Amino acid sequence: MVSNPDYDLCIIGGGINGAGIARDAAGRGLSVLLVEAGDLASATSSASTKLIHGGLRYLEYFEFGLVRESLCERKILLQAAPHMVRVMEFVLPHDEGQRPVWMIRLGLFLYDHLAGRKKLAGSKAIDLKAHEYGKVLDDKYAKGFVYSDCQTNDARLVVLNALDAQERGAEILTHTACTKLRCDGDHWNISLRDLAAGQEWDVRASMVINAAGPWVRGVLEASDLVHGDGLPNVRLVKGSHIVVPRRYDGAQAYIIQQKDKRIVFVIPYEDDFTLIGTTEEDFEGDPIGAQISQDEVEYLCAAYNDAFRGQVTPGDIVCSYSGVRPLFDDGKENATSSSRGYKLYRHKDMQAPMISVFGGKLTTYRHLAEEAVSKILKMAGKPGAAWSAPHSLPGGDIDDYAEFISEQKARYPWIPKELLRRYGRAYGTRMARFLDGANSLDDLGAHYGDGIYEAEVVYLVRYEWAREVEDILWRRSKLGLHVSPKTIKNLSQALATLTEEVKSDDAKLAGD
Ligand SMILES: Cc1cc2nc3c(=O)[nH]c(=O)nc-3n(C[C@H](O)[C@H](O)[C@H](O)COP(=O)(O)OP(=O)(O)OC[C@H]3O[C@@H](n4cnc5c(N)ncnc54)[C@H](O)[C@@H]3O)c2cc1C
Repeated sequence: MVSNPDYDLCIIGGGINGAGIARDAAGRGLSVLLVEAGDLASATSSASTKLIHGGLRYLEYFEFGLVRESLCERKILLQAAPHMVRVMEFVLPHDEGQRPVWMIRLGLFLYDHLAGRKKLAGSKAIDLKAHEYGKVLDDKYAKGFVYSDCQTNDARLVVLNALDAQERGAEILTHTACTKLRCDGDHWNISLRDLAAGQEWDVRASMVINAAGPWVRGVLEASDLVHGDGLPNVRLVKGSHIVVPRRYDGAQAYIIQQKDKRIVFVIPYEDDFTLIGTTEEDFEGDPIGAQISQDEVEYLCAAYNDAFRGQVTPGDIVCSYSGVRPLFDDGKENATSSSRGYKLYRHKDMQAPMISVFGGKLTTYRHLAEEAVSKILKMAGKPGAAWSAPHSLPGGDIDDYAEFISEQKARYPWIPKELLRRYGRAYGTRMARFLDGANSLDDLGAHYGDGIYEAEVVYLVRYEWAREVEDILWRRSKLGLHVSPKTIKNLSQALATLTEEVKSDDAKLAGD
């Protein structure tokens, strides 16, 4: 239940866009409620390729504006969360059957120059027969290009935005669905259902932003709001990835052009693995149930096998995941060329302000959020200046990441190097919240196995809305890839008790 059933703004959806909007709006002093039907980032925002990138291939569709916006956001995010957004080199091997060399050179020139890139090296051509990056590739490649982009942890980026929103005053309710929106004069009545407890109640808000991703139209349909001039259609496009044991040494990723004009990324993932994706196919049905098909598995294995010396077979796959892109339908025939831009639809026929978000990219969420909040405030005739660009996300107040890690080694000399590295990447400066006061691993409480200690789990439950083992192992982290069944069992057994303890401690603190 919420403490104050009357808000300035209610946001539906706790993916990257909803969480980003909540942060932006709370930072402008609005009273904000965000409702998410599942766990934070339980849908598309945990199933991406995890790149903060301009999207080199969108240049081909003349989407210069989108690429420029994305590259500007890349720069902002590198500064806002240096622990979670890291620069990665991408190798683009070239053979005769692909886009011509002049086109790639031009594309890379634009990519280098469309936005500032102080921290990223410029692109260059390489001889794959001589360069170490060519060693793992098939013999057919002689020439290639290298450029820089960034990799992140998509689901944690969502949580950091929600955390910042909460610290700026927003209320975040997970496992709570919006079941109906009713415009009543100058405000909205919003029906909510706690999907875990089965409770239902109403709240009021002056403004609503519908950021339900693939369900954006579903939310409108449930409330009979699918009218209004020019309301976009959503095009649901499924994309799948496979994870296999690490294929090669080195920190570089590869971007492989396919004969059907798609591209497949091959990316070092979670130290011990390689991520291969993505596919693109139109999707029907409930996006939450999206799963990789046999055709997609074969497509991804074939894409890898055609470009690399080694082979990947379906039997090598450790896990796979699929997500559904909620693209706004621009009428393009194929999904690959459909725009990755976004549309913020203003429901002008309603007296109380409301916006629905169509499309977007992980990379551009901050800008989308800023624009959405500015737009809805304008509709409401209220002031509120944009603020978020120069502000770091929780844990991201770090000037130089290498220096930060050295400082943490000196501060916590008793933490094994690999564990400290993991804490640094996941929590940045926030690791102090569960490490300070401890002087040995024993001080971190029970050890459930594979470097998962009670102190971290308590932090995730108390501050990061983690409820289930899956939230911890697959969204707040990707530890699910690394831990043994015994660790999972230990964690499962401990979680219910820890959650009760956290609740009771918090209740005591609130009562003091
Ligand atoms: C395969 C794939 C790869 C991608 N790779 C990249 C990439 O590398 N880089 C990049 O920039 N972008 C990438 N994207 C795009 C990016 O992931 C999406 O644009 C972004 O995650 C969409 O976020 P969202 O918040 O709009 O939607 P979602 O993350 O789906 O969030 C919507 C949320 O709304 C909730 N919801 C729905 N209905 C209700 C309701 N009634 N009440 C309450 N909550 C509700 C859902 O549970 C869901 O959590 C990729 C997308 C896919 C599919």
